Amino acid sequence: MKGGVRVKDTTVLIIEDNMVNLKLVRGILRRLGIKTLEATDAETGIVIARERKPDLIIMDIELPNMDGIKATKILKNDEVTRHIPIVAVTAFAMNGDRETILAAGCDEYISKPFKLKEFTETVKKFLDRKD
Ligand code: MN
Repeated sequence: MKGGVRVKDTTVLIIEDNMVNLKLVRGILRRLGIKTLEATDAETGIVIARERKPDLIIMDIELPNMDGIKATKILKNDEVTRHIPIVAVTAFAMNGDRETILAAGCDEYISKPFKLKEFTETVKKFLDRKD
């Protein structure tokens, strides 16, 4: 499988409260040979990120209680987690939202519904960066 070896021992944390989207992203990552950690709310995601230090975080923006914007700001202001790339995945479509997401510290932004190729290429770009 092309690219499979390079990403074999990498772990991606998915923070997503929608089960359909969570299963979709999990399935895509696992087919790439990537291990997944999962949280359905931001607070739990932050705890997992600090403890497990994943190679990449896929961050939903619309989450219960704390949203993905605030969670990203917390992670990017924490010395333990600030180096972890964060890719926001959200249904937000307006330009102002994109600026807000990037200003919060997200490294990349993918809007839902995303194309499989777009998603996998973005994931691989960030996972390759640490090689
Ligand atoms: Mn959501």
